[in-house]
Amino acid sequence: MIKQSKPLFDASTIPNDLCPIAVLQNPMLPGDWRSMRPVVNRDKCVKCAVCWLYCPVQCVVEKSAWFDFDLTTCKGCGICMRECPHGAIHMVEESS
Ligand code: SF4
Ligand code: SF4
Repeated sequence: MIKQSKPLFDASTIPNDLCPIAVLQNPMLPGDWRSMRPVVNRDKCVKCAVCWLYCPVQCVVEKSAWFDFDLTTCKGCGICMRECPHGAIHMVEESS
């Protein structure tokens, strides 16, 4: 075994609450803080699934004749709107 140039770090000395932001899971979901949300124009949507492919949080859900969004987890990034080849998605401001 190669000898370490410095002694190994003893993680047991770190208090559990040193950095609560990093160790405690935040109960908020993106739907709690999102400022914009996507809306689909059902007449324009051709169910190509490009929005489903690009959504970084996988919140695009398939409906019978269009694709929609799970607004609990959608973070409002707008990538689906930018990538939709048919211009079927637009972003609207969340009302407070
Ligand atoms: S990318 Fe646009 S046209 Fe394609 S499924 Fe999504 S909303 Fe519909
Ligand atoms: S706005 Fe972003 S997170 Fe929401 S459905 Fe579109 S790509 Fe996904």
